[in-house]
Amino acid sequence: MPEVIPVCHCGNLAKLNTSWSNDNPGMRFFRCKKFGSRFRKPCQFFSWFDPPLTPHSRIVLLGLLKKVRTLEGARKRERRTWLLVLVIVTVLLFLKA
Ligand SMILES: [Zn+2]
Repeated sequence: MPEVIPVCHCGNLAKLNTSWSNDNPGMRFFRCKKFGSRFRKPCQFFSWFDPPLTPHSRIVLLGLLKKVRTLEGARKRERRTWLLVLVIVTVLLFLKA
């Protein structure tokens, strides 16, 4: 955690967030809680917390993120398949009884 939390333009303590974009994977940044156009008086305060990634670190991180997302997708599909098998077996047992 940061030792010093910056105060944004509107006087609030900035919030620490993490970016998961392809350009800045895993990079933390401070942003006002009123950042964005959905607020009537938005605050544009934005400041990076982490130093920039080296090109190699960025490539490694993106590769790992891609693997994690692929495995999560496979796990979801597997869970759906097992749930379907469970429903079919339950229905078959119910019809047989
Ligand atoms: Zn602000």
